[in-house]
Amino acid sequence: MKRREFIKVSTLLSASAAATPSFLLGGCAAKPLPGTGVISSTPTICDMCFWKCAGQVFKEDDELWKITGNPDDLHSGGRLCTRGTGGPGAYLDPDRLKTPLMRTTVNGSQTFRPASWDEALDYIAAKMQSIAETAGPERMLMLNHGAGSSHFRHLMRAYGSDSHAEPAFAQCRGPRDVGFKLTLGESASSPERTDMANARCIVLLGSHIGENLHNGQVQTLAEALNKDVTLITVDPRFSVPAGKSKYWLPIKPGTDLALLLAWMNVLIDEELYDKDYVERYTIGIEQLAKHVREYSPEWVYLETGIKPDVIRETAREMAKASPATVVHPGRHATWYGDDTQRSRAIAMLNALLGSWNRKGGFYIPEKVTMPNYPLPDYPKPKIKTADAYPGKWPFASQGVTNGVIDASIGDDSFFKGWLVYGTNLPQTIPGVGSKLAAAADSLELVVVVETMPSEMTGYADVILPECTFLERYDDLRNSGERHPSIALRMPAFEPKYESKPGWWITKQLGHKLGLDEYFPWDDYAEKIEWQLQQIGSSLDEMQKIGVKNFERKTPLYFRDGERVRFRTPSGKIELYSKQLAEKGFDPMPRYTPPEPVPKGFYRLNYGRMPAHTFGKTANNPLLFQLAPENQLWVNPLVASEWSLESGDYVRLGSPTGVVSNKVRVRVTERIGPDSVFMAHGFGHKSKRLRLTAGAGADDSELMSNIKIDPIMGGTGMRANVVTFVKEQA
Ligand code: SF4
Repeated sequence: MKRREFIKVSTLLSASAAATPSFLLGGCAAKPLPGTGVISSTPTICDMCFWKCAGQVFKEDDELWKITGNPDDLHSGGRLCTRGTGGPGAYLDPDRLKTPLMRTTVNGSQTFRPASWDEALDYIAAKMQSIAETAGPERMLMLNHGAGSSHFRHLMRAYGSDSHAEPAFAQCRGPRDVGFKLTLGESASSPERTDMANARCIVLLGSHIGENLHNGQVQTLAEALNKDVTLITVDPRFSVPAGKSKYWLPIKPGTDLALLLAWMNVLIDEELYDKDYVERYTIGIEQLAKHVREYSPEWVYLETGIKPDVIRETAREMAKASPATVVHPGRHATWYGDDTQRSRAIAMLNALLGSWNRKGGFYIPEKVTMPNYPLPDYPKPKIKTADAYPGKWPFASQGVTNGVIDASIGDDSFFKGWLVYGTNLPQTIPGVGSKLAAAADSLELVVVVETMPSEMTGYADVILPECTFLERYDDLRNSGERHPSIALRMPAFEPKYESKPGWWITKQLGHKLGLDEYFPWDDYAEKIEWQLQQIGSSLDEMQKIGVKNFERKTPLYFRDGERVRFRTPSGKIELYSKQLAEKGFDPMPRYTPPEPVPKGFYRLNYGRMPAHTFGKTANNPLLFQLAPENQLWVNPLVASEWSLESGDYVRLGSPTGVVSNKVRVRVTERIGPDSVFMAHGFGHKSKRLRLTAGAGADDSELMSNIKIDPIMGGTGMRANVVTFVKEQA
């Protein structure tokens, strides 16, 4: 028998397995308008995605009524998005994890059994101690996502391990952050530091604002559209922002870098770039001019399908509005494996337009200066995360998930244990299924901390049920942005069932590991109170107001003619990258055509939908009612060829023979005949996610052609193709 078999997390369903979706929905209906009871409110920070909008939880007679935006929150414009208002569903979801679970074997089959917190944490502590003694604490790896991670990172660092990786880097925004840092010395930040509300021209490349409801960003784009901004959307699909655009450029998939180079060609050839800015702040304009000469609009038209006059006209629009032009850095940037270079081209284009740190382009973010709570120094790890994949990806600024997963396989694996917090790896890392199984079979310990029984929990030895964001304190929100502010998340309710807050779990585990000095608080409120007092506030004040705004201490943009030292080796914006050249990479972004699509296959295009945050919210009973499954966009020509109609269900097949769950067809002209499109985050296999299990298809499992970015290790996912799989009669 394998040491650790994947368990479909269905074994504890017992009687409730027969429950119907309507029962589940009925158990979670939002409360109607309040009656005559006592209304109270508690501040929170939404956790339905990572954007961290501040809100208020309203109760009537201590019963949950609704969640709304905090009107004082400039970060969210005082509003929550669809998913945020669905927050009660996270708290009320009857499928939540309710008690610690431990792997056991019954009649020769592996399953989970309920355990007490003491037993579960004793087991974890003993295993962690054993790993520390036999291999070193650094061999214990953390994989994580989300704001609640901070408690567990603190525990792991106190224990002696700084080994960690999050999919937000290698599966999402890593190439963008590395590309911007190599070029401008800084990342595009999160939330993105785009000054869209003041922009006169905005360029979106495959960035689906409005479909991905990053709250503040959607509002500033709407503000810009109300002021008649020129919106240029580059997307093979007629996306939501494409419909609001002055120019929709339906580009051939995989050719965006050619277009970016052609735009730079036009700006330089027609001398439309910001000469003063470029002369003052950049190095390498001569090399860039020479490099982009070959990317004429006429040549690039053959690659992209975008006509030369449209390329020229849109470049002129950008120049006319500059510096109030934002060429948006995007967010999910892992496309074709040349993603750091494509992101560098976006940064370079912004530099030519003089928009970096200028009004209407990008602003300079500022956060509140807040001292750290006084704690002992962490032990210094002897091993870094990158030691798990030596010599690979020299510019990876964070742990690379795919690298650390590979390093967790085999009897002599580099890592010996995993602590997985808030990330559902089977749906997050493309085509990872067999590797996860191999890693789980090799590791000495797999702990999963979750609120829901995600597929990842099926690989765990121990599952720890964290309570939802409405039942816990977490760290104060203090992110760098236009308006410095802090926001408080505090419990509106006692944790349901046996679930516990992350700060409590880590304190208990810290105690069992002999790390009490790192957890001197009895309640996390004590730590937050101390921090607030250092900046002239208090927990009492924040419990009343939820959000506190501060005056900026530094300018929002560069001042005219200001001398600036950028955080690059040269102190300038590096159009030519000596750093890349020294490591054997191309110092200039160079376009490579995408692989052709085999006959009978279609490019697998994937994205977001406004009602959900990946698979994280798919089982949320309130959001499920809005969007119970994903749909497959199919061009009418393709639909006719395969005799498909809107509403039909089909399965998709990958070139390696993986067949998806059924997905509903939507025939639409909004996608070209070379691609299909679906929202990510469906096709769940965990049967304990009773609403969403089996609904829609999972794009991740269909991905077998992964293009690794050699600069930072990101997993390019857009070179994947699928075909239709007919049902057997
Ligand atoms: Fe919540 Fe929406 Fe804000 Fe995300 S963008 S934190 S889901 S309100």
